[in-house]
Amino acid sequence: MAPQVHLNMNVRGLEMSATVAINELSAELIRQGRTISKLGLGQSPFPVPGTVVDALRANAAQKAYLAVRGLAELRDAIADYHQRRNGVPVSGDDVLVGPGSKELMFVLQIVFYGELVIPTPAWVSYAPQAQIVGRRVAFVACDRRDGWRLTPEKFEALCAGDPQRPRLIVLNYPSNPTGATLAPVELQALAEIARKYGCLVLSDEIYGELHHAGEHVSIARYYPEGTILSSGLSKWCGAGGWRLGTFTFPKSLRWLLDAMATVASETYTTTSAPIQYAAVHAFRGGMRIERYLAFARKILAALGAACRRRLVDAGVDVLEPQGGFYLFPDFSAHAESLRARGVRTSPELARRLLDEAGVALLPGSDFGRPREELTLRIAYVDFDGAKALASLEARPLDTPVDEHFLAVHCHSVLQGVERICAWLRGDLEASQAPRAQELRA
Ligand code: GLU
Repeated sequence: MAPQVHLNMNVRGLEMSATVAINELSAELIRQGRTISKLGLGQSPFPVPGTVVDALRANAAQKAYLAVRGLAELRDAIADYHQRRNGVPVSGDDVLVGPGSKELMFVLQIVFYGELVIPTPAWVSYAPQAQIVGRRVAFVACDRRDGWRLTPEKFEALCAGDPQRPRLIVLNYPSNPTGATLAPVELQALAEIARKYGCLVLSDEIYGELHHAGEHVSIARYYPEGTILSSGLSKWCGAGGWRLGTFTFPKSLRWLLDAMATVASETYTTTSAPIQYAAVHAFRGGMRIERYLAFARKILAALGAACRRRLVDAGVDVLEPQGGFYLFPDFSAHAESLRARGVRTSPELARRLLDEAGVALLPGSDFGRPREELTLRIAYVDFDGAKALASLEARPLDTPVDEHFLAVHCHSVLQGVERICAWLRGDLEASQAPRAQELRA
């Protein structure tokens, strides 16, 4: 008799995470010989800073299982980092280290009792994780007119609807997918509402260090007693594949940290030892890491603005990004002509752009938006960040990152965006000889 195997109800119908799937699809198409601008997966284009790579090399022989909560030295370094950067008075005992903040979020969803609040557009994995653990989700649809940001009014309306319900709200700023961030006064207003209703905040600040002006502020400043601050090496340290994430808890929520550590001890046990030793150097920071970050921000700010300019010139509505490496353009001004070409939904738009323009990106529907809303996420990361950084470092400090620099170092990104614009005009031929190509040194 064939084995009787059935899928757990919670995972039935779930597909591979959109970010991971588009990455694998792009790689496969490239392997088949197609030229693809890889604007799908949001992976840092920059290398891991040299000092951190050296530390990993020096610790390659570390082989012991480390403490479930993380290496004590690393937890202290993370606490110091958050004190320095975010002004939150935490100690190493308040820190939990895990194999990526994505895994820590999943463990939190397992141990927490209550409703998960997700303002959309939101990163692709919060909701599927909730589905896997059978958690109830309340989506709050944000508005383009509010810069895709959660307004205090919307948050208050949700909480007031059932004031006693235990809730966990996830706030991600700078945002994946919009590139927008929350200003201190907005954070203060949201903090007051969270405090009023006893709502726990999961503050996903994985792009904090990539605020383009280096001015990231954490909501933990205004709501220290109810904020779990989530960070990690993946984005600012260029180390997505290293898998190291961190949660920092208020002292009053030590029991929640302990519960997560218990689940961790029964699942992943601990985070890779060599990576933890190396991460100590990343979180301790220093002049070389500061320089690395300053240059990375400068490149991302200029590139985000250049991509946006091209889209705006093509009649696409898109916010000026403030941090991270994403744009979330809205093509609804072109809805009529797109309909005439058989495109009615964001997945159709993304698919056509991949097939006909060779640009891999993700539809807004993967970020919790209605399928009929013609939004897309562009991750402007398809370039060699090591070369771009080296070139900038070799020039005088005030050298601007101009169109010429971008054309030389970020060619594939600009070409991808130009192809989107050309495809939109029904003029794909023009995109075969894009401006970026002509400007190449
Ligand atoms: N956070 C990245 C993205 O949104 C990729 C990593 C992931 O989703 O696990 O593209």
